[in-house]
Amino acid sequence: MLDFNAPYTLTIGGKALPGSGELDVVNPATGSNFARCPAAGGKELDAAVAAARAAFPAWRAMSFEQRARYIARLAEAIQENVEPLARLLTQEQGKPLQQSRDEVGRAGTLSVGMTQIQVLPEVLLDDAQRHIELHYVPLGVVGVITPWNAPINLAVGPMTSALYTGNCIVLKPSPFTPLCTLRIGELMRDIFPVGVVNILAGGDELGALMSTHPHIDKISFTGSVATGKKVMASAATTLKRVTLELGGNDAAIVLEDVDPGEVAKKIFFAATVNSGQVCMAIKRVYAHEKVYDALCTALAEEARKAKVGNGLEPDTVLGPIQNRRQFERVRGFIDDIRQGPGKILAGAEQPSGEGYFVAPVVVAEPGEHSRIVVEEQFGPVLPVMKFSDVGDALRRANDTRYGLSGSVWGKDLARATAVAAQLEVGTAWVNQHRATLATVPFGGAKESGLGRTYSILGLRGNMEPRVISILKG
Ligand code: NAD
Repeated sequence: MLDFNAPYTLTIGGKALPGSGELDVVNPATGSNFARCPAAGGKELDAAVAAARAAFPAWRAMSFEQRARYIARLAEAIQENVEPLARLLTQEQGKPLQQSRDEVGRAGTLSVGMTQIQVLPEVLLDDAQRHIELHYVPLGVVGVITPWNAPINLAVGPMTSALYTGNCIVLKPSPFTPLCTLRIGELMRDIFPVGVVNILAGGDELGALMSTHPHIDKISFTGSVATGKKVMASAATTLKRVTLELGGNDAAIVLEDVDPGEVAKKIFFAATVNSGQVCMAIKRVYAHEKVYDALCTALAEEARKAKVGNGLEPDTVLGPIQNRRQFERVRGFIDDIRQGPGKILAGAEQPSGEGYFVAPVVVAEPGEHSRIVVEEQFGPVLPVMKFSDVGDALRRANDTRYGLSGSVWGKDLARATAVAAQLEVGTAWVNQHRATLATVPFGGAKESGLGRTYSILGLRGNMEPRVISILKG
C-alpha cells in the first residue's frame, strides 16, 4: 500500500524528486486549498526526457508479453490502492466517491484490456520476386498531457497504450488535478525499469514546453479543442506525432417510438455524470415532437431528484464543478439561458455559498444558435429541442465543428441504427451513450480530435509503420 500521508514527489528516472516550484490544489467542494505538490519546470522536463531516452533501447527490446506483465502489475497496484486513490480523486476532482471508484477500476480494466491486443507484422506481398512486410516499431518518448475531468483514466489509458507498444513516457497532469497522477507515479517507479515512466506535475507552460521539446517524439493530448490546436502547431516544429482527444458537443436524437420515462433516466445520467464534465457527455437532446413533452417532464424530474453536494457524502449524485474558472463558465451558460427564449424546466434555483456547486438545469428550446446549443458546456446544463422530421434532426445534430460522439434512441433498432450511421462523429451509439471498450477505437471526427485511443488503432498511433521489402533470388 502507498503512504498517502507522505509528501508528493515527481518521478524522474526512477527517483522521487522535488520540483523547482509548487502547486496549490483546491478541493472544489470547499473552494479552499487542501494540498500542495511539487511543480516541474524546464530543468526537470529535460531530466525526465533524458531518463526516458536512456531507458528506451532496453524497453523497446522487450516483447509485448514482457511489457504487458509490467502493466498487469500496475493494474494490480492501482487495485490495491483503490479506496485511498478514489478518496483523493473525489477531494481533488469533486466527483462522487462511487464514480471515483469506478474511474480507478476502469483504469485497470482498460489498460490490461489493451495489452490483450496483438500488434503483428503484416505480409503485404509475397510472390516469386518479392516479399514485403509491414512492421510497427515504437516511436521513442511519448509525452502525455491530461485534463482535469478524469485524471486517472485519462492518464492510465494513453500511458499504458504508449508503454505496451515499447515507448517510454513523460506525463503531465492538469495543474488542477495533479495529486492522483503523482501517487500513481509513485506506484509505477517501484514497478517499471528506471526511466521508462516519468511523471511531472506542472502548469500549462510545462505542456507547451513538452509540445516543442526536440527529444519527445509524440504528444498524446487530452483536453480542449483550443489547446489541442496549440499543441498541434507546436508539434509541427519538430514534426512530432500527435494524438488529440478533444472536446465534444454530443447530440442525442430521440425517436418517436421510445418509452420517454426509461430513456430520460439514461440520457440524464449520460448528460450529468461527473456533473457533465465528460468529453462524451450528452450535451444536446433532439426529441421527436410525439415524445418531446413527456421526455422534458421526465428529464426535469430526474434533475430535481439528483442531490448536489460534496462527493464524499454518500447520497451525492452530482459533485461540484472541478474549478472556479469552469464553474464561472457554467454559471455563464445559465445566465445566458435566462436572457434567451428557453424555458427552464429544472435548476432555476442555484446553490450559493462555498464550493463550486451547480444544480442540474434542463432547458426547453433555448434557441438554435444559443451558446448552450452551439458551445461545449462541460457542466450539468442540458438543452432539449423538438423535431418533427428526422432528417432535420440529423442536420441540426451535425451542424457543428465538433464530432466526438452521439447517440440515437429508438425501439426499432434497424431504423435507429440507420439514423446513427449518419451522425458525423467518431462513435455513434444506439440506445446507449458513453460506452467504451479497450478493443474499440475512440476519438473525434472534425475538430474533436485527431487519431484514436484504445484498440489496434490507438496502439498503432504510438508506433511508426516500417516496410521491409525483400527482392528474392
Ligand atoms: P485544457 O485544454 O485547458 O488542458 C488540458 C491539459 O493541457 C492540461 O494539462 C493543461 O495544463 C495543458 N495545457 C494547457 N495549455 C497548453 C499548451 N499551450 N500546450 C500544451 N499543453 C497545455 O483542457 P481542460 O480544461 O483541462 O479539459 C477539459 C476539456 O478536455 C474539455 O473540452 C473536454 O471535452 C476535453 N476532454 C476530451 C476527452 C476526449 O477523450 N476526447 C476526454 C476528456 C476531456
